[in-house]
Amino acid sequence: MTLNADISRPSRVEILGMPVDRLGMNETLRVLESFVAEKRPHLVVTADASGIVQAQDDPEFQELFKSADLITPDSIGVIWAAKRKGMPITERVSGVDLVDRICGLSADKGYRIFFLGAAPGVAELAAEKMRLKHPGCNIVGARHGFFPADSDAIIAQEVAETQPDFLFVAMGIPRQEKFIKATEGIINASVSMGVGGSFDVFSGKVRRAPKFFQALHLEWLWRLLQNPKKIAKVKNLPKFVWLILRSPR
Ligand code: UDP
Repeated sequence: MTLNADISRPSRVEILGMPVDRLGMNETLRVLESFVAEKRPHLVVTADASGIVQAQDDPEFQELFKSADLITPDSIGVIWAAKRKGMPITERVSGVDLVDRICGLSADKGYRIFFLGAAPGVAELAAEKMRLKHPGCNIVGARHGFFPADSDAIIAQEVAETQPDFLFVAMGIPRQEKFIKATEGIINASVSMGVGGSFDVFSGKVRRAPKFFQALHLEWLWRLLQNPKKIAKVKNLPKFVWLILRSPR
């Protein structure tokens, strides 16, 4: 099964030129499992407002985004923009939640998972936490994400040796997606997905926004309060709103 970039599909909406699949969490998991059954590389992008704004000025990332096999709605801004276009999306499908659910599936079905990214020690700790939460979860390797792009092929060889079905790369947008594309022929994971700050959350290094912030769709504000360096990303949010309001419905 492939969901390639045919924007005319009723299950896809285009937001500022970027495709987003209108699937909920359970449907997304079914598609990801079908990707594993196909046994060939698939790129999954988790689309948030900031990433869509970044794609506007980065032709390489824009191309990757458009060619992805699946693009999930990862922020409330994306949900709002889809609704405004008359193509509503039922729920957010975030990278953090997907990693968690796939670790649960791995415990049942044995899927092989690799965690690549975040500061030294963080991916390993995140993997430990996931093994405790989902006993039997088959995380076959974990490694930090601080290496230069000219080492991508060497790191990819290390990852390939563990033969993962799912590769989660937490190195920030768009570096993580560029790493995945550059190395998919070496690693050959059936599903590769950029998951931003997920390992920081699982490891406990960063706390996920309390339910109160989540309910008010203020996770971005929580992240900014935790890490003021995120201001560059937060500045993309008003830009996203402005661009959407200016764009045709
Ligand atoms: N990171 C990394 N390598 C780098 C730069 C960043 O592994 O060269 C990690 C960083 O430690 C953090 C993640 O990438 O864990 C990015 O998290 P962020 O919340 O910024 O992701 P985004 O907002 O892009 O989803």
